[in-house]
Amino acid sequence: MRKPIIHLTRKFLVSAALAVMAGGFVSIAARADDAAKVPQNDLLNATLWMQRSVEYKATTIGIYDLAKLRLDDALADKTWTAVPDKQGEDFGDKPPAIILDADETVLDNSPYEASLVTRGTDFKPKEWTAYVKDEVTRAIPGAVDFTTYADSKGVKVFYVSNRTDEEKPASLENMKKLGFPMGGNVDTFLAVGQQPDWKSAKGTRIAYVAKDYRVLLLFGDNLGDFTDDYKGNLDEREKVFEANMKHWGHDWIVLPDPEYGSWESAPFGGDYKLSPDERRKMKIDALQPWQPKD
Ligand SMILES: [Mg+2]
Repeated sequence: MRKPIIHLTRKFLVSAALAVMAGGFVSIAARADDAAKVPQNDLLNATLWMQRSVEYKATTIGIYDLAKLRLDDALADKTWTAVPDKQGEDFGDKPPAIILDADETVLDNSPYEASLVTRGTDFKPKEWTAYVKDEVTRAIPGAVDFTTYADSKGVKVFYVSNRTDEEKPASLENMKKLGFPMGGNVDTFLAVGQQPDWKSAKGTRIAYVAKDYRVLLLFGDNLGDFTDDYKGNLDEREKVFEANMKHWGHDWIVLPDPEYGSWESAPFGGDYKLSPDERRKMKIDALQPWQPKD
């Protein structure tokens, strides 16, 4: 009497297995169909890396931790300056300072960048200002610890930022909440446009600090945080990089920013009137690919 039952059970199992397989094929096909509907976005990998990878956090913590060694060396050497062309003479006894860019150097704007990806839209100045005023910017890992260390050593910590004067009050509040040293009674957040000659090129603001302080270190995520010669094409940028080789990792410290910057706009000459597809094509043309033999 058991045999028919076994037979029936086998039949049932075969049918069930076929049903599961068919269901599997349907769900794989559905997933592929869903995936095809996900829009491409050039910011995705860079934003995912900066916002969710442990590798990014470990990188910036490492940079800022090692920068403490540079800071100690710079403090002990009165001939040390990160801006010899702006420092003038007899700077050795001026009080020490460091200059850091804000966005993507000490401030992590990945919530804004992530929202560009999830909403499938591009940077818009008005929307950026609204984001800044929400005061939800985070600290780059390691930045509060490092700037607090510098402050504890008597080093004045300046932020030279291309955030605007309108965005400055919210930026200061946001940074205070995050625990950054904010200069006491000295205005240490130098926004673009705050004075008539404070344009997006930062040389005049760096010189403004160097007038009264010995500038030990510069920090940034963009060539323009270190030199005003940042707008050239790829070859010109390479020459500027090479001309400043003695500074990199010594008194000019670079934070990684794969999301945006003059490196990204150089291949299309900074011409944002071009369509996203035209810009992407010019960036692809700038690559130096390996070619398979066959
Ligand atoms: Mg920046």
